[in-house]
Amino acid sequence: NFQALVLNKIDEQTNLNVKQLTIDDLPKGEVTIKVAYSSVNYKDGLVGIQNQLVESYPLIPGIDLSGTVMESTDTRYKEGDEVIVTSYKLGTGHSGGFSEVARVPGEWVVPLPEGLSLKEAMILGTAGLTAALSVAKLEAAGLKPEDGPVLVAGATGGVGSIAVNILADRGYEVVASTGKADQEAYLKQLGAKEVIHRNEIVATDAQPARKKRWAAAVDPVGGKTLEYILTTLQYGGSVATCGLAGGVEVATTVIPFISRSINWLGIDSVMYPMDKRLEAWKLLSDNMKPTALNNEMVNEVSLTDLPEILGDILEGKVRGRTLVKL
Ligand code: NAP
Repeated sequence: NFQALVLNKIDEQTNLNVKQLTIDDLPKGEVTIKVAYSSVNYKDGLVGIQNQLVESYPLIPGIDLSGTVMESTDTRYKEGDEVIVTSYKLGTGHSGGFSEVARVPGEWVVPLPEGLSLKEAMILGTAGLTAALSVAKLEAAGLKPEDGPVLVAGATGGVGSIAVNILADRGYEVVASTGKADQEAYLKQLGAKEVIHRNEIVATDAQPARKKRWAAAVDPVGGKTLEYILTTLQYGGSVATCGLAGGVEVATTVIPFISRSINWLGIDSVMYPMDKRLEAWKLLSDNMKPTALNNEMVNEVSLTDLPEILGDILEGKVRGRTLVKL
């Protein structure tokens, strides 16, 4: 027997409770894992509280997990191997990480890279992977530290906090935008050079271009914030769109694209191909490993704390990364 947080639906009524389960309650899969840690992402709030993206009930939410292989019929893995599983249908269409035991398809498994502990892998989790993919894609588009300030929107969030720290570690001048006026010291500790209020980066009218401010931006917010970013990038600048915490609709003109040669880059971690995914985790374990990983950024919780935290993350109240110890 083991414990898991189970989302169920009975007579159109959903409930989210910690339950005792057995291995037979888990979905089919080649690899059974004793979960060491999971973490809380915005998407877990969408699943657990708003019941969005849920393919079937009952479901154990949790889009991230790290742990040790208990049993595997996939010959690539054996008992005792330390592994990471994120993305694909984990925690949406297939029971996920908010559980002491998980069973997943072999194709979803990432061997824990040397240089990361199981705990560090989950402080990073999907948020860390997304931040790394964002920075890597900006750099692939030509971004260099000498190009000028780089904006991180939603900076106290999971993706935002890790992006601030990775960019600062790599020598960028980071401008962190946040709605949490009291979090300037936190963001400066992660390496932000300047902290601004998020109200300052919202498009309140439909100007096609504004004063140039940033060489690049990492944007987990979207909506009116992204509209503002598109109109304020420097010539040749890029924005990595990686989230929707502030809205999904974006109005733009072609003007900044054809007069400032800007790049609008899309970031997806969920279906990111496995060969490149392994490279991204390798980067996160060495060259791009954030220096503030075991710091202020982390809040550790248990399964029973989760229902409340899943509500908080949707309201933008959570700071940094929430680690779930199983
Ligand atoms: P998170 O920890 O909740 O961070 C989101 C941050 O955005 C909040 O902390 C808040 O930061 C800001 N924010 C929240 N509501 C806002 C609003 N209404 N207007 C403006 N800013 C707002 O969530 P996360 O797990 O880092 O995820 C962030 C976003 O990225 C989510 O939309 C998530 O779905 C997306 N995501 C996408 C991928 C992908 O594969 N593309 C992967 C992971 C996450 P401040 O208080 O500091 O402003």
